[in-house]
Amino acid sequence: MPGRLTKKGLIVLDRDGVINHDSDQFVKSPAEWLPIAGSIAAIATLSKAGYTVAISSNQSGLARGLFDRRALRAMHRKLRKLVAAEGGRVDRIVVCPHGPNDGCSCRKPKPGLLLRLARHYGIELRGVPTIGDSLRDLQAARTVGARPILVRTGNGIDTELSLPENLHDVEVFDDLAAAAAMLASV
Ligand SMILES: [Mg+2]
Ligand SMILES: [Zn+2]
Repeated sequence: MPGRLTKKGLIVLDRDGVINHDSDQFVKSPAEWLPIAGSIAAIATLSKAGYTVAISSNQSGLARGLFDRRALRAMHRKLRKLVAAEGGRVDRIVVCPHGPNDGCSCRKPKPGLLLRLARHYGIELRGVPTIGDSLRDLQAARTVGARPILVRTGNGIDTELSLPENLHDVEVFDDLAAAAAMLASV
């Protein structure tokens, strides 16, 4: 059964460095999953504005054996609960569990996770706002004709400083709260 979209349609968020603080040691448990200030309220803002919020996330820590599916589910329960407490909703979370050398088609910058969401909702990805802090998030979005948006949290400042030619036109915001405020206002 295809997923149902709310009136403003789909928005896709990266997780680490956009919603929660990223870590070089990987985020391995709910205790380590700590939201960036304003990000939970920002998701609620998007929900209330009529967006269906999905998350697409590379989680190579699974392939590396640093945490398991159960820990990942627990992290996402925490995320969803915090968002729900602010009156918002995360509709769907898609994850690449593979490592960088597994040759999968879902690890960003590959567009597999976005394509999975497109199949689920039965939509085209053209123009779908896709928010990330890393180059690979923007590349995945660009590959499928979505609308790449960069935030300066996580790796975002480094990413902004090293944007390749074909991504010089991406929209950039200080954080998810600022991006959400703009998207909710139009
Ligand atoms: Mg990230
Ligand atoms: Zn993958």
